[in-house]
Amino acid sequence: MDPLAGEALDSWLAAIADRTQTAWSDMLAALRPTASDATTGHSLQRNWVVYLRPDEAANIAAATGVDPAVIGAMTLARYEGTALMIDKARRCVTRAFPWARARHARYCPCCLADTTGRWQLQWRLGWAFACTVHRCLLVDTCPDCGQTQKLNPHVGEDIPQLARCATRAPHGSGGPSARCDGDLTTAEVTSLAGDHPALLAQQTLLDIISADRASFGVYAAQPTVSRGALADIRAVASRVLAYASQEDIAERLPDDLATAYEQVRSSPLGSGQSPNPANKPGMAAPTRAATAAVGVTIALSILGAPDIEAAGAALRWIVHRGRRNGVAVNTTTAPEWGRGVSTTLTAVQLNALAPFMKPSDQLRYRTATAIPSNPPQGDSNAERLAHQLPSMFWPAWSLRFTVPPCSPLQMRPALSAAMMLVGTKLNLTAAAHRTGSAVTAAGVSRSLHFLSNDPRWADSLIALARLGDYLRNRAVID
Ligand SMILES: [Zn+2]
Ligand SMILES: [Zn+2]
Repeated sequence: MDPLAGEALDSWLAAIADRTQTAWSDMLAALRPTASDATTGHSLQRNWVVYLRPDEAANIAAATGVDPAVIGAMTLARYEGTALMIDKARRCVTRAFPWARARHARYCPCCLADTTGRWQLQWRLGWAFACTVHRCLLVDTCPDCGQTQKLNPHVGEDIPQLARCATRAPHGSGGPSARCDGDLTTAEVTSLAGDHPALLAQQTLLDIISADRASFGVYAAQPTVSRGALADIRAVASRVLAYASQEDIAERLPDDLATAYEQVRSSPLGSGQSPNPANKPGMAAPTRAATAAVGVTIALSILGAPDIEAAGAALRWIVHRGRRNGVAVNTTTAPEWGRGVSTTLTAVQLNALAPFMKPSDQLRYRTATAIPSNPPQGDSNAERLAHQLPSMFWPAWSLRFTVPPCSPLQMRPALSAAMMLVGTKLNLTAAAHRTGSAVTAAGVSRSLHFLSNDPRWADSLIALARLGDYLRNRAVID
């Protein structure tokens, strides 16, 4: 009885029990390393699929004749660091990793039918929402009882039923251990036609996880490890799910998925946002496959843009929706989108926020550059710039930036002060002071106001940010 490719450990063991007509508890007793093992019964079988100790893997290998490495790869430990993190002592998936684990196993009824009830390990991941073989959304619940799967282990005295619902039967029918026994292969699926973006999104996720690397779209210039990319995708997906209206979703996704999402939003299990604190939408993986599919597919359509600027433009509607919903979406709140995001997502966020920023902040976050960034802590950048800048900006440069009604005499110190903001945390007053008080904060603000109202502001911003970057780097070399 060989394991199938990608099969979960408990599925394979249940299949052996089914083939040999062995009660589940007898099966586990035969595989357990020693009688003195403290972890027994239900907790053992529930946790084996998370992580096997070497002696346990060796024992199962000895009992079944299958290589211990193959057996270990059937546990969630195979995704350690790429799709989740495991607390080996407690044998559980930690919350540290973005969307590590769904609270239940989703399933593809067609896969179950094709394999007479063998379960894929990846259905346990919070990132699994579609079957790319059968081109459908995964199913969350039993077609008979409507409960989620694999929260309850098999009944010890019974022979496992492979493609049957193992959750407790509704109250009052049968004894305490009676199971629903619904036929999971008959569950209705949401089919996803052709090269559906949700299927492409699912494949992209699986590729990121298996390669531990993201190099698509915005990551092409600076590839990141799986963990960083998944944190980014979660951050964007969670805001999509929190801010988007049904019309926003319908505009951006094919009808089949938008409709499936509309249905789960109004179902008893909800859209899957409820377990999260109000200020942290999407921190935990969505309960429903359709919800994960909507969030991830739209997030990947944004992060799949060819560069930061295009991704920023694609993200901007979410900033608009958040603001329309009365949420402060700005450079201060952007980090709250999610922990552990990459500098690439930060750059995309800053680009998206740029039109809402004051001119001084556009300089500060270098929004016109290829990779906008948060200014670093401390004032080392400001120190470097201060050493390179005259208090009166160079005349030839100043001429190009002098717009009416400002005179060159007003513009020159204002430009020196404005330059001091590029990539630094200095406020206008401190920047003006650094010019030897050749200008006041109000003077800088006024000059920037006229400069930013000029039709050439976008180009001016690029030039000033690049000059700021150049001067800072030259200071390092000096
Ligand atoms: Zn399938
Ligand atoms: Zn059921």
